[in-house]
Parts: sequence; structure tokens; C-alpha cells
Amino acid sequence: MRVYNFSAGPAVLPLEVLEKAQRELVCFEDAGMSVMEMSHRSKAYMKIIEEAEAKLRSLMNIPDHYKVLFLQGGASLQFAMVPMNLMVGSKKADFIDSGVWSSKAIKEAKKFGKVNVIASSKSDTYSHIPTYKKSQFDKDADYVYICENNTIYGTKFKTLPETGDVPLVADLSSCIMSEVIDVTKYGVIFAGAQKNLGPAGVTVVIIREDLVGKADEIIPTMLNYQTHVDNDSMFNTPPTYAIYMLKLVFEWVEAQGGVAAIEARNKEKAALLYDFLDQSELFKGTAAIEDRSLMNVPFVTGDEVLDAAFVKSATACGLVNLKGHRSVGGMRASIYNAMPIEGVKALVDFMKAFEIEHKE
Ligand code: PLP
Repeated sequence: MRVYNFSAGPAVLPLEVLEKAQRELVCFEDAGMSVMEMSHRSKAYMKIIEEAEAKLRSLMNIPDHYKVLFLQGGASLQFAMVPMNLMVGSKKADFIDSGVWSSKAIKEAKKFGKVNVIASSKSDTYSHIPTYKKSQFDKDADYVYICENNTIYGTKFKTLPETGDVPLVADLSSCIMSEVIDVTKYGVIFAGAQKNLGPAGVTVVIIREDLVGKADEIIPTMLNYQTHVDNDSMFNTPPTYAIYMLKLVFEWVEAQGGVAAIEARNKEKAALLYDFLDQSELFKGTAAIEDRSLMNVPFVTGDEVLDAAFVKSATACGLVNLKGHRSVGGMRASIYNAMPIEGVKALVDFMKAFEIEHKE
């Protein structure tokens, strides 16, 4: 029996996608072999990667002057690749520290230049997006960096910082393709695939072409964006099967009606959970209301023993991976694109029953 998987990542995939992959696992179309067994340079595989890119471009409305790369090393490698490739002018960058993932990016960037942390919400356990003023940004900086959706704390930038001519770099690992966005507002977008796009092992990078080719010669070949742009993500063997899975997920998003339809469904799912939390006498959401994420919903009862009992009995009922991140505690429901609305309804019904049972 499949459970409702609320994991923060790797996360739930659409059932239709898994079933299609299962049908094609041993023999892909007329290739007589699995996608896993194909040469990445074969005609059949080239078609898969080209379709994956074309579908991503069409779904996210990515203009031609942006390059799309399928890389490895996870979002974490981008924490270093971004400064290696972009901190090359004034060697300064502005960061907004909205959680553990942005602080890890700050740590890496410091190895390559001067990091200016414009604002941080660390002292409030990152329960809100830090406040900042446009005037704080350095016009001379090589880029401004944000983590747009904070997976651990369930917060999201609802408006992007206005950075003028300074490119905005954003980690969209936990919100890519969850809402319609304007790609032209960004210089670089990157995302590990394992939440909204597919299995772990591939990282999507969307980069404005004028930001490619600036890195110093000393940068290792594999860590230079130019290498991957020049070779259409085929400088070395790409994560072939993970990219194939991305293509299937993109086909699924198309079949749902595209990103706008996914966004409407995500808003409906998140509203179900937040509306319940806001009237509950037992459960309480931990993120600031105005910054709430559509993807990750952390909540607590205020009693650690009760939280643990909740997670245990939810698991027994097929609602799994609800334990919160250790830095926030309590619970976290990650409700990515592939989480069906029925899963969220089942969770809310379970929470209602648990609340009645545990009312003093
Ligand atoms: N950025 C965000 C927002 C994340 O949620 C995560 C992982 O959960 C990462 C970066 C790290 O991703 P990876 O494991 O692909 O390096």
C-alpha cells in the first residue's frame, strides 16, 4: 500500500510517473533496453534530454537568453559554484540569511570573496523572512543571494528583492515549479530536483547567458558553468536516469494544466492545512503568517511528548515523514506538487481526530 509521504525531500513523486517509469523500466520504447543502460550520446537518449529541457523551458517560460543545465552535486554544490563563477567583479555579494540553507551558501561564498549579510532572522529561529531595505544593497556587488523557500522553517519570499542591475541568485530547491514565476527577474536559479522535479541526483541550473564565462581559469573545469553550457550538460556522463524521470514529471505537470494549474492546486492544499491550524486549539503553525510557504508547513502542539505521539500515530495511519526538522522540532508537512489533495485532507482529518482525543 502506498502511504501519504510528507517528506521534505527526497519527496513524493506522482503515482502516474512512477507507473510509467515502471512500464518502461526494462525496455524503453523500441530501444530494447532500459534508459539506465543507454549511452548518453545515443540518439534515443539525446531525444530524452532534449525533450526534458524543452518541456522545462516551456513550463517555466524560460527565455532563450537563459541557459538550462542539468548538473550533479546537489544544490549544495551550487553554494560554491555560484561564487566561483560569479564573484569575479568586485568580489562582493549581498546575502539575505533566511535559514540553514542560506547560511551554508554564505559559508561557501566567504571562501571566494566578501560576503555582506544584509539581514538575518536567525535570532528568531528563522520563523520569518528577514526584513531589509532596498537601500541596503550594494550597487557594486556581483550578485544578491536568497533562498526563496525555506524548507526547514516553512517560510517563503513573497516578493523578490529589487536588486536593480545586480543579478539575483536564488535557491529554489523546495519551490521550483510550484508557482508561476518570472524567470527574467533572476540572474541564476538553481534547484536540487528531489522535491518538485524528480529523484535526487540531478540539479537544475537556469542561468542568464551573460553570467556564463566569467570564471577565472583556475576554476576546475567541472565547476565552470561555461563547460556545461558549451557541452549541453554532456561534458561528462550526466545523471541519465534522473533526467529521464524529470522529463516524465514535466509531462505530468503539462497534463495537470501546467504550472498555473499546479499553483492553484498548491494554494488549495496549503489553505486546507493553514485554515485548520489557524482555528485549532491544539496545533499551531510556527512560521510568520505573512511569510508562509505553500510547500512546507511546520507546526507544533507545544508539548514534545504529544508531538512524538502525534507523529507515531500518524505513521501508523499511513501519514509518514511528519517529524519536524531537529532545529524547529514538532511536525512538518511537506506538500510538494505531487502530494494529492486527498493526502492533505487525510492529514487534516487525522489532526482533527487527534485534537478531539487529546483535548483537556
Ligand atoms: N537548499 C534547500 C532550500 C534545501 O531544502 C536543500 C535540501 O533540502 C538544499 C539546498 C540542499 O540540497 P542538496 O541535498 O541537493 O544539496
